[in-house]
Amino acid sequence: MNPIQMVDLKVQYQHIQNEIDHALKSVMENTAFINGPEVKSFQEELQAHLDVKHVIACANGTDALQIAMMALDLQPGDEVITASFTYVATAEVIALLKLTPVLVDVDPHTFNIDPVAVEKAITSKTRAIVPVHLFGQCANMDAIMDIALKHDLFVIEDTAQAIGAKYTHQSGEVSSAGCIGHIGATSFFPSKNLGCYGDGGALFTNDDQLAERIRMIANHGQKIRYYHDIVGINSRLDSMQAAILRIKLRKLNDYTAARNKAASFYDHAFADCAQLTIPARAKNSTHVFHQYTLVTNGIDRFKLQEYLATKNIPSMVYYPVPLHMQKAYADVRYKEGDFPITEELCKHVISLPMHTELTEEQLQLIVSEVKAFLAL
Ligand SMILES: *Cc1c(COP(=O)(O)O)cnc(C)c1O
Repeated sequence: MNPIQMVDLKVQYQHIQNEIDHALKSVMENTAFINGPEVKSFQEELQAHLDVKHVIACANGTDALQIAMMALDLQPGDEVITASFTYVATAEVIALLKLTPVLVDVDPHTFNIDPVAVEKAITSKTRAIVPVHLFGQCANMDAIMDIALKHDLFVIEDTAQAIGAKYTHQSGEVSSAGCIGHIGATSFFPSKNLGCYGDGGALFTNDDQLAERIRMIANHGQKIRYYHDIVGINSRLDSMQAAILRIKLRKLNDYTAARNKAASFYDHAFADCAQLTIPARAKNSTHVFHQYTLVTNGIDRFKLQEYLATKNIPSMVYYPVPLHMQKAYADVRYKEGDFPITEELCKHVISLPMHTELTEEQLQLIVSEVKAFLAL
């Protein structure tokens, strides 16, 4: 049995090694390292896969969020509402652009932003909402889009953890995660569901004018070389990463299926454990299981983590500290107790190994060791 990893990129590479090595070699021979044909092809293929009009690649997921906010022309002092239970990048770019991050609590079952809390947080300064599709399933986008329409707000979907998830609207129409709001932002960090072998990111939009602004901002604010119409940044995906992503995109549906299979195995094993709550499935979204996250009940999760570590089973806590209690974001407006659901989750969640290469033997071992700990 291979050693158990949180994310096993090594075994995944072994399965696609010939294709990857061949693709990388041809990029090296071609030498179009930046903005080469691989980047263009990848963007087109991802557009088709997601059924979205524009995919614009950039350097990483954090840049994608920043470029989205710049493209929407958000101004210092504008308020942007996002979830208190997320990765720091979401709030970081809001603060970096001198916008005001307004945090709200999440749903206790799906861990995604609570639309009721969003609507309550709206003021005359609110300009945008950033739902994060946390751990692999979509936030309640029907409710969020209704609120945005009613209050004339932009919606930027942080899709870094949910590429490939499908959302079924009340109307019955199906959309890809990241292609519902005005702009979607995603990351191709190696451990993400569609990951490259370095940094990468992309923006999605169905709006032609926004797409043009996004392309310009990611490329120093220029449409014609050396004519800079707006202030931009330098944020690009390189051709080697695009070549890798093209190969992995063709396998994304299979990878998602493998993650779901592992999740079902865990679900089945832990369904009757009173000390563990298995992840809930959102009503209108498929789950792509970026993480498999349990909520513990009456046990010390760090002791569980230590116990598993002695059996060479890794586990992680995503995320131990809510945004409003991080030093960098500790705002006078917020204090401990303001977001009780987020705070409870931060105290009780634990994520188990989740990736595309988990074998039944590995899953069986993880499950029996978790159960052995619970029986101690
Ligand atoms: C990974 C991640 C990001 C940032 O992506 P990078 O490519 O690492 O910059 C943003 N938001 C969420 C929710 C993420 O998980």
